[in-house]
Amino acid sequence: MAPAYDALVIGTGFGGAVAACRLAQAGLSVRVLERGLRYPKGSFPRDFEDPRNGWLWQHRQGLFDIKLLKGMSVVQAAGYGGGSLIYANVHLRPPPDVFASGWPEGYSRESLDPYYDLVAHMLDVQPITASARGLPPKTKRMQEVAKKLGREAQFFYPNLAVRFAPAGEPMPNKFGVLQEGCSYCGECDIGCNRRAKNTLDLNYLAVAEQRGAEVTTQAEVTRIEPLSPGYRVTFTDHANAGMQRTVDARRVFLCAGAVNSTELLLRNRDVLGTLPDLSARLGTRYSANGDFLAFAFDTKEPWDPAVGPTITTGMVVDEGQGKDKTWFLFQEGGHPVQAAGLMMAMDPDRAMTLPADLLQRELVKVLRTRSKEMAAIENERGRFQAVFLAMGRDKSNGRLTLSPITRELQVQWDVPANLPLYRTQEQLCEDVARALGTRAAYNPLWERLHLPVSVHNLGGCAMAEEPAYGVLTPDGEVHGYPGLYVMDGAALPVGVGVNPSSSIAAVAERNVEQVIRQVKDAPTWVAPERVPTKAAPAYPPRVSMRMMPEVETVASPVVPGTDPLGDVVVPPGGTVASPTPVVGLRFTERMKGFLQPNHPSPEDFAGAARAGQRGGQTAEFVVTITLPNLDRFLAQESHGGIVQGTLHVRGFTPPGGAPVENGVFNLFVGTERFYERRMLYLMPFTGVDGQPYLLDGYKEVNDDAGFDVWSDTSTLYTVLRKGHERTGPIVATGIIRLHLPDFLQQLTTFSVLGTSSPLKQADAMRRFGGMFMGTLWDVFARAKFD
Ligand SMILES: Cc1cc2nc3c(=O)[nH]c(=O)nc-3n(C[C@H](O)[C@H](O)[C@H](O)COP(=O)(O)OP(=O)(O)OC[C@H]3O[C@@H](n4cnc5c(N)ncnc54)[C@H](O)[C@@H]3O)c2cc1C
Ligand code: SF4
Repeated sequence: MAPAYDALVIGTGFGGAVAACRLAQAGLSVRVLERGLRYPKGSFPRDFEDPRNGWLWQHRQGLFDIKLLKGMSVVQAAGYGGGSLIYANVHLRPPPDVFASGWPEGYSRESLDPYYDLVAHMLDVQPITASARGLPPKTKRMQEVAKKLGREAQFFYPNLAVRFAPAGEPMPNKFGVLQEGCSYCGECDIGCNRRAKNTLDLNYLAVAEQRGAEVTTQAEVTRIEPLSPGYRVTFTDHANAGMQRTVDARRVFLCAGAVNSTELLLRNRDVLGTLPDLSARLGTRYSANGDFLAFAFDTKEPWDPAVGPTITTGMVVDEGQGKDKTWFLFQEGGHPVQAAGLMMAMDPDRAMTLPADLLQRELVKVLRTRSKEMAAIENERGRFQAVFLAMGRDKSNGRLTLSPITRELQVQWDVPANLPLYRTQEQLCEDVARALGTRAAYNPLWERLHLPVSVHNLGGCAMAEEPAYGVLTPDGEVHGYPGLYVMDGAALPVGVGVNPSSSIAAVAERNVEQVIRQVKDAPTWVAPERVPTKAAPAYPPRVSMRMMPEVETVASPVVPGTDPLGDVVVPPGGTVASPTPVVGLRFTERMKGFLQPNHPSPEDFAGAARAGQRGGQTAEFVVTITLPNLDRFLAQESHGGIVQGTLHVRGFTPPGGAPVENGVFNLFVGTERFYERRMLYLMPFTGVDGQPYLLDGYKEVNDDAGFDVWSDTSTLYTVLRKGHERTGPIVATGIIRLHLPDFLQQLTTFSVLGTSSPLKQADAMRRFGGMFMGTLWDVFARAKFD
């Protein structure tokens, strides 16, 4: 039997909306499945007391899908319109050299520009300067900051997909859908209840429906299976008690977003076995687009985060050449009034000290509780808190995988390889904060655990000529599966460094055009907006889209656009160097010992180690500890660093050892005893049985009987826990030690990051050594004299 539809589109973000619109305009029968809800005007959640009331995808298909993945925290939208519902509306085109490597033949800024123009036309983009309301306070602050920092030539106003019409009656947009003008309420990232954001449901998707596309929301796709011809797609119908339903279509366009599309294909290949021939490269070339989040509290002048669209300005940083090039954008950010408490929970000066030994999920839990407390004491100071967003060209060297046993999605993200970018972003955040009369504060997940948060996920199903290099053909078709396409952020083979939605949509415009030309056997087919006819209304009125019937909507022609980034001037030697030094340190440590499984007394480290030694239960690790920013390391109470390396624990790790996944090191954390400090080692890893484990150890430095500084600094009291949190059950206990020859070797491994100046390197070593020895002095010697 012939499949019911010519095309099935999964997901309605920047890829899915473009695909659905063009396929419907080309006359194909189109079905759209979207897991989230529709948001009619005024329906975005606003119950700030209860996170389960409309906010979270996990609770009745709410708006935000926040995934605390191992290696990365990911924020995405769920809803009809995808990321456009909660994004900050910024539309930028990457500089031409972004396309110079990693992209398939035929991709360049020049070849994509007509599609960027098309996207800009459909989404009606313009900068804040087009608004009759004038510039919001934070926009003015950034103008002043750029001047103070000597970065005026790199300052610009990005295009925004916002309607800046004067207040008054709602007016139809160019597709006949009613929209109001922007009121500067600062709520863009939680859904615009005025419909002033040009979200995808008001343009691309409205056109798709006008052209007959059938849309089902609350439909979560779980399975894709080849038929002959076409594909059978299974989805969970959340609107009908989770019933399982199927749809058959000749062609399937997977547009569930970079993380979800990749995960869906991984599950279909590795768990369900329905798509066994997917490329081995599936999941690779994941990029977090260099996302970096920071804050500034108590700015000298009001920042007024809740006034104006979420982002209105940008600043380019472009330093170095070739391999050493660092390129990123800095954008000012805002937040709704009601989120002030959440922001304050990030303020190290106000939010009390956080325990040093919390891992990802525990830390998020504590922050959630603190933000509630902070919300209760919200006051005028909320006007003086700023949000900083940076994004840039990272190494795009991440990998999305499923854990072999638990099948949980995880991200392998190489923080040390991307540190030069992150450290330069930190520098600029410090500079901007200083220009605002304060200092920067960081997202605690980064500050404590060096875990980035990404809202701009890309890659995982990269396009490449050969399946050996990528999952998709250069036109977005899955290698080995004719008629199955991926047309969302997953298809981009490298991070673009700018806010990516324009690029995702432009690539989708290009690729869906190729598909339509092939399917319709019409080699010159282009989107109707590229060849407008004055005679026929392109978008016939439909009452359900709240049209004003008297308004005739005729497709207006696409006008080639300009991009504000094109006006930015970067001097030949690069943008000005930051006056803020960011110097880091790195060293390698090897320790060996014994861990006894299921020791009857988990606190009896010495007894367990002896039992382990008798039974040959060896434990050993070689790890590199990176302190990305020595100043902050020294200033923080948690004195934290990143741990990477390999761990061998007999019976728990594979013969070649297990890689440590985003481990954390804390030097000299205070305890409740005055003359006592602890060095903490937290090393999550996946065991030989595929289960998550945590090596949780501490060295206890205190002035007990005798001068035992060597023993204290070299003895790691260790437990092995099930799971990746410190609350997990203990499965082995013992002691791992630093032996003198290994310590002497360790001394030769110290290297200083971020400076080639021998004087600065010596200074960094002196400061680290001073802190180390100073603490030992405090614990062992000062106690004697006080
Ligand atoms: C807070 C925030 C601010 C941002 N600001 C900007 C900005 O200013 N500019 C910018 O360019 N980018 C911004 N982004 C990023 C931007 O939103 C994304 O890059 C973009 O939406 C990705 O487009 P996409 O088509 O790949 O996927 P998405 O837009 O994420 O769309 C995927 C869709 O698929 C649906 N879906 C997922 N799984 C399934 C399934 N199994 N079955 C059915 N449906 C499914 C989802 O619900 C979603 O609607 C922001 C993101 C966030 C979170
Ligand atoms: S500032 Fe308010 S009105 Fe304007 S686009 Fe954002 S949410 Fe809508």
